[in-house]
Amino acid sequence: MTFAYAPALESRAVVDIAPAYGLFIDGEFREAADGKVFTSISPSSEEVLCEVAHGGSKDIDTAVRAARRAYSTWSALPGAERGKYLFRIARIIQERSRELAVLESLDNGKPIRESRDVDLPLVAAHFFYYAGWADKLSYAGWGPDPKPLGVAGQVIPWNFPLLMLAWKIAPALACGNTVVLKPAETTPLSALFFADICRQAALPKGVVNILTGDGSTGAELVAHPGIDKVAFTGSTEVGKAIARTVAGTGKKLTLELGGKAANIVFDDAPVDQAVEGIVGGIFFNQGHVCCAGSRLLVQESVADEVLDALKRRMGTLRVGNPLDKNTDIGAINSAEQLARITALAADGEAEGAERWAPACQLPSTGFWFAPTLFTGVTQAHRIAREEIFGPVLSVLTFRTPDEAVQKANNTPYGLSAGVWTEKGSRILWMADKLRAGVVWANTFNKFDPASPFGGFKESGFGREGGRHGLEAYLNV
Ligand code: NAD
Repeated sequence: MTFAYAPALESRAVVDIAPAYGLFIDGEFREAADGKVFTSISPSSEEVLCEVAHGGSKDIDTAVRAARRAYSTWSALPGAERGKYLFRIARIIQERSRELAVLESLDNGKPIRESRDVDLPLVAAHFFYYAGWADKLSYAGWGPDPKPLGVAGQVIPWNFPLLMLAWKIAPALACGNTVVLKPAETTPLSALFFADICRQAALPKGVVNILTGDGSTGAELVAHPGIDKVAFTGSTEVGKAIARTVAGTGKKLTLELGGKAANIVFDDAPVDQAVEGIVGGIFFNQGHVCCAGSRLLVQESVADEVLDALKRRMGTLRVGNPLDKNTDIGAINSAEQLARITALAADGEAEGAERWAPACQLPSTGFWFAPTLFTGVTQAHRIAREEIFGPVLSVLTFRTPDEAVQKANNTPYGLSAGVWTEKGSRILWMADKLRAGVVWANTFNKFDPASPFGGFKESGFGREGGRHGLEAYLNV
């Protein structure tokens, strides 16, 4: 017998979205120099949330100059003083976490269960973690007085808007840099609320500047001669374009790009636990996760058992209103992303893979895609090679550990991987052979600010998180 869930809506009254937002430059919100604006919509309802300024050349220049002026005083502060500001920001994020979680679910489409229990706690944890580093840089192995780089130009994607901001801003500020950050055009709001938090924390003007806009704003920002360091998270295609722009300029660069991770289930894995890991690996955040376990590699002898259990579990996933606390899978972030997922899934069928999705009723407005799996997938299929960035799982099988490694590594990407087995020695053997920045064992999608994260091959270079994450913002 199954029970029906009554709706359990989180109130959106806790967040007050203004009708329009400006660019946050030198401690103030201001209109774009050319008056250009765009709108941000809620992907679950297509409701317009507000108007946002679109930063152009003049604004980028003003923001970079403001960050440069602020740099001389910010970088000269003792680390303990910078740490105080970061601790203050971390505490305000905790205090305002409900408001920020609702905002993030409205603007991004992710379920409140995730924005409330994953994104926001991790955002605060990042600021707390790097606040603690600010006065310890002299003891971290880079000599007695490691220096910051200057002004960082940072460009982030829409899948974890506030968390990606935290990954970029917290280490940059801890090291004494100042920043100009461009959030993604479909999810600018939490970065603008963060600007307000900077003011609340009395962060000196110009230390953090938020420039909203689209790809053209990002392209001009990273090309600006006043930028010393570029940090980018987003698609491999744009990452390559940025690498070409930055080449030969002396700017330090880190790229966190796409992925096509293998989640590998051996025949001795506890099936129920593995199924939870598979579901979390691909359906968390609608599969809009760079390190998503989008390729399931299951040992042939247990494939039927695992797939039966997986289908049963997928049948219990609840797709719908992101603000409902019972929702497991929210809205796809944009019409463009939905079109891309739809096209890739259609290609999977056309290439001969077998498509399956549980019966589920999708809302009539907004952008939605049912949790989907493909069996009979070969390594040549597009759905096994390309990042879908949606709730679509491609299932392949293997017979031996060697074959699992060979198939897992058969991708231009190398961001993450998962291994499910009872054998500790096999975990170590696999982790040694998998060409991926993160290898999870008997778990998936676990993040911690103390742990470095980053890719091999076309997943990018440089690490964020942990002590490694500081190195990207120091002249070492
Ligand atoms: P995207 O590359 O299209 O956009 C990312 C950001 O770059 C946005 O802010 C966008 O406005 C900006 N941008 C677009 N064109 C630009 C240009 N020419 N120059 C500078 N900036 C530009 O990617 P997306 O669709 O927003 O995000 C999805 C991608 O991000 C996926 O491939 C995913 O795997 C990747 N991602 C990676 C990580 C990671 O840590 N490795 C994390 C999250 C997302």
